[in-house]
Amino acid sequence: HWTLTNFDIGRPLGKGHFGKVYLARVKSKTDPFILVLKCLTKDEVITKEVQTQVRREIEVMQQLRHPNIIRLYGWFHDSTRIFLMLELAGKGELYKQLAKKGRFSERRSSQYVRQVASGLSYLHSSQIIHRDIKPENLLLGMNGEIKIGDFGWSVYSPQENSQRTLAGTLSYVSPEMVLGQPYGKAIDIWALGVLTYELTCGEEPFGADTSHGPRLVHQRICRCDLRFPSFLTTEARTFIQLLLRLNPSERLSLNQVDQQPWILNHL
Ligand code: ADP
Ligand code: MG
Ligand code: MG
Repeated sequence: HWTLTNFDIGRPLGKGHFGKVYLARVKSKTDPFILVLKCLTKDEVITKEVQTQVRREIEVMQQLRHPNIIRLYGWFHDSTRIFLMLELAGKGELYKQLAKKGRFSERRSSQYVRQVASGLSYLHSSQIIHRDIKPENLLLGMNGEIKIGDFGWSVYSPQENSQRTLAGTLSYVSPEMVLGQPYGKAIDIWALGVLTYELTCGEEPFGADTSHGPRLVHQRICRCDLRFPSFLTTEARTFIQLLLRLNPSERLSLNQVDQQPWILNHL
């Protein structure tokens, strides 16, 4: 029952692949609620694949309730656009903070990683795989808390190990995905390991020259060719190594994250 006329539109907050994201306020004297409108242009949401993505994003997000996951309040469309009504993450993208700082302290990193793990654990218990965990898709709430966003790549995982699509972002892709093997929730755990490395070290763990394509990066991923900078503590290295295991079933389970020394030391 929502239409664009129900909102005052504010400043653009970011640019998505298929349209812009705006700050907005519900026109109401009693409850002038602040939220975010993610606008998708129908012209660009034309292929079957993208339609599936948008449908999934809406379907998945609408059922989720967790302090570390962006809420979807509702959605509507007009003749040319689809609008998602999203919870505002007041402090924007984690990616921007990281770019500004270069890298985060281990304390700050571990607090972010713990919150991402908490959100992911909830997602996985709802049989959903996010498939695109990376700093660009992690937002920050007004108190600096993590809010997982952008569920465009998410999928249901009813029968574990049924998916084979190569999804997500090059440097966050798991070895089983690179190898075209069936994969499941453990790809998000791999991505959490890549994230931990990137937040603490300020660079991607499997970076390589991509001018001739993704081959070299894929190679480093499939060999789990990890090199740590000298400043990284032993606890951080151990934590990252527990997540970045080639064998998906050997990766640290998300509900054990909270018990790891690297997390406990920084609570
Ligand atoms: P896409 O699916 O096209 O990548 P995103 O959902 O990632 O689009 O949104 C694009 C950008 O808009 C984000 O990177 C972020 O800067 C901003 N943005 C999206 N959702 C929110 C939100 N809930 N709160 C604040 N900023 C947001
Ligand atoms: Mg995005
Ligand atoms: Mg998306």
